[in-house]
Amino acid sequence: MTRLFNDPARFTEDAMEGFRDLYPRYVRAVDGGVVRSAPGPRGKVAVVIGGGSGHYPAFCGVVGPGFCDGAVVGNVFTSPSAQLAYNVAKEADRGGGVLFGFGNYAGDNMNFGVAQERLRAEGIDCRTVVVTDDVASSPPGEEEKRRGIAGDFAVFKLASAAAEEGRPLDEVERVAQAANDRTRTLGIAFDGCTLPGQDHKLFTVPSGKMGLGLGIHGEPGVSDVDTGSASEVADTLVDGVLAEAPHGAGGRVGVILNGLGATKYEELFVVWARVAERLRAAGLEIVEPEVGELVTSLDMAGVSLTLVWLDRELERYWCAPADTPAYRKGPQPTAPVTDRSIEREVADSAVQYPQATPESVACASTVVEVLTAVQRAITEAEDELGRIDAVAADGDHGRGMVKGSTAAAEAAAAVFAAGAGARSVLAEAGDAWAARAGGTSGVLWGTGLRAFAERLGDDRTPSRSDIAAGVAAFADTVQRIGKAEVGDKTMVDAIVPFARSFAAEGSWCRAAATARQAAEDTASLTPRVGRARPLAERSIGTPDAGAISFALVTETIARAVEADDE
Ligand code: ADP
Ligand code: MG
Repeated sequence: MTRLFNDPARFTEDAMEGFRDLYPRYVRAVDGGVVRSAPGPRGKVAVVIGGGSGHYPAFCGVVGPGFCDGAVVGNVFTSPSAQLAYNVAKEADRGGGVLFGFGNYAGDNMNFGVAQERLRAEGIDCRTVVVTDDVASSPPGEEEKRRGIAGDFAVFKLASAAAEEGRPLDEVERVAQAANDRTRTLGIAFDGCTLPGQDHKLFTVPSGKMGLGLGIHGEPGVSDVDTGSASEVADTLVDGVLAEAPHGAGGRVGVILNGLGATKYEELFVVWARVAERLRAAGLEIVEPEVGELVTSLDMAGVSLTLVWLDRELERYWCAPADTPAYRKGPQPTAPVTDRSIEREVADSAVQYPQATPESVACASTVVEVLTAVQRAITEAEDELGRIDAVAADGDHGRGMVKGSTAAAEAAAAVFAAGAGARSVLAEAGDAWAARAGGTSGVLWGTGLRAFAERLGDDRTPSRSDIAAGVAAFADTVQRIGKAEVGDKTMVDAIVPFARSFAAEGSWCRAAATARQAAEDTASLTPRVGRARPLAERSIGTPDAGAISFALVTETIARAVEADDE
């Protein structure tokens, strides 16, 4: 149970307030997360890591000398938006370029990907390492599809130590990639975790069983197996990880035995005794092991084992000192040279919207009404959307859609009040959705709406063909950014039939009915992308959460503009 919170919707913000108060020596708050309060020397590569919160010490707990330069902090289990990742990177940059590091989840890939494009467009070199250590989440041969779990800590530590040594961006990126290629994790869970404000766990494990192959966002294990003594659990983990030793692995390993949030240190030590015995018996030399909570999943009961097969270079970085709020190692690195001369000045920008015609302003007023209706409908459906998303994924879809649609409706009203036309109102609404919702659906909805807006103009009453072009642009953008195809069991399975129907018949009502049917039909599909993929079987019989919410939005719009349709 997560018991201590005020407003559940503000859990992350409230936790960050306490965190920042505790550690001013290490971190400075920026919009989107934290950066080192004493920046590294000028020209240093900035390592910026992140993802959703609920994983402390990952990720903001390891910002400081020897470790990361900045951490982007999303809502619980939810990718931060591209805007936030960009903000943190921009603040952390010391002129040597930026290395983004995050676990392999669709939402993080998209949001950090968009931020990377933006940084590069501004002349800041930016590279990315995507951590894929979880051996349970995809079979050998498909390593690049695996999730990032406790191996995040190892990969970020190694890359950060290379950056601290003053290596250039090419080198830091190479070290990060080598670290990921040599890192493997397997975990087990005895019990799921509870999101703040909820009274049920995201999953439960039958008594006498344990979930093998856990995720760190409340995704259950990929299979339930019989539990056993601590030594038997240790054997399961050691066997599972050693079976996945990378090609050309040597005999020296960095090891992490990680508690997921509700497993006591003493229990970890009991398990460790057996893990160490087994690894030594396998002929491995254990180098500076870490046993404790490094990447957690709220209050999940469970443990994971990570091995990093070290070469000489990686061993030097594994053993290098670090000094951060949650992790300190070895002699403190010499105090970094503080140089604020390249700190950027953030210019105040009063936004100007293009001059709008009265026709476009009238349409903008409809956009505001429609978005307000959408916000209301989504808020009513929040629990149901969360429940569907929790069947095989992380249960945050309802919360994410509420945050996104609320931000969009508020932004639309504000921009409309400033006298803007339909294009500007919808474009700002899309940006607000992407910035505040986080998650996979957030970036897709936000960028999709912005693309839709570009077809409306600020100079006219949008014609039926403008709207059709907007719908098509929305569908194309979601497919381009998300790279999902029809049949992968995502919102695309409802969007594409909707767009086709609207293009052919021009009736929003009939297209919405098509979307509803297509969304319900996703129940029979097996997910091929997104968070639900590792638990594909479990999802059969339940429709895709994003497809259902898309259908709901189209139906709500149909009702709101009923009089204008047909
Ligand atoms: P997250 O998966 O980051 O927790 P949400 O729970 O808000 O984000 O949204 C989940 C929904 O996002 C899924 O139900 C699916 O419809 C959609 N989705 C996931 N991945 C993709 C993708 N690659 N392309 C299109 N839609 C996707
Ligand atoms: Mg989700």
